[in-house]
Amino acid sequence: MKFADLHIHTNYSDSTLSPEQIVLKAVDQGLSCIAIADHDTVDGVVPVQKVAAFHDLEVIPAIELSSELNNQDIHVLGYFMDCKNEIFKVKLREIQDVRIKRIEEMIEKLKEFGIDNITIEEVCALNKSDSVGRPHLAMILEEKGWVSSLQQAFNKYLAEGAPAYVKKYKQTPYEAIELIQKAGGVAVLAHPMVTKRDELIPSLVKAGLKGLEVYYPNCPKSVEKYYEGLVKKHDLIATGGSDAHGEGKPNTFIGKAKAPYSAVEQLRQASHG
Ligand code: AMP
Ligand code: ZN
Ligand code: FE
Ligand code: FE
Repeated sequence: MKFADLHIHTNYSDSTLSPEQIVLKAVDQGLSCIAIADHDTVDGVVPVQKVAAFHDLEVIPAIELSSELNNQDIHVLGYFMDCKNEIFKVKLREIQDVRIKRIEEMIEKLKEFGIDNITIEEVCALNKSDSVGRPHLAMILEEKGWVSSLQQAFNKYLAEGAPAYVKKYKQTPYEAIELIQKAGGVAVLAHPMVTKRDELIPSLVKAGLKGLEVYYPNCPKSVEKYYEGLVKKHDLIATGGSDAHGEGKPNTFIGKAKAPYSAVEQLRQASHG
């Protein structure tokens, strides 16, 4: 049977994995297909496709858009967008500009604690795209010896409620779904078992949501079954993936969670319909 890991992050967002590492691991796991689903950027898709061209591995375009409703993070996955779509490109640029400005504000706040040797340029240099985030700032804090671990950087300064935290402007999940659709893509709710906002599913489906990420690392079989039930009930597509981030997320790896290849065919079909 053919399998696909439909949720992989690269070093074009906050994963440590390069395109070469991703392709080698995916081939090693015997996967037929992977989706590159970075946070708020598609810049990593083509570099992975270029490496995969030398292997028997399909790489499909995806994205994980950050959105927010009532102060809670909701991640929306998109598949098979036309990454050259002008509306899509302009909106992603805008989202990335907001991310950079937010990190600048956090760097300013850190100065109140005597941390005065961090520049936005060096934080951005850690990332191969402009989709920069708190994990990159945490790496610099550790590298410069202000904290002894990435977790300490979050606990002391960067976590929500910590003194250098700055809220990020985010679109609503309804806007995220609309953006994906405008670019010809298929919207899927990421890790609903983590987000725990199932009551939103009917309204998200009304807004154009086409799938749920049912297969996710460390998810009990009973919970998986429950989401398979919701997929049936709302006539959706069941997708799945590892959410691998390399060293950034030690509790998962490429191939740890995967969907049957039929999910890829369903997504492709839905993007054409
Ligand atoms: P950002 O997109 O800049 O808000 O960063 C979000 C990322 O930071 C998440 O995907 C996590 O990897 C990481 N993160 C957020 N909160 C924490 C925390 N309390 N401890 C460790 N990592 C965190
Ligand atoms: Zn991430
Ligand atoms: Fe996510
Ligand atoms: Fe993710």
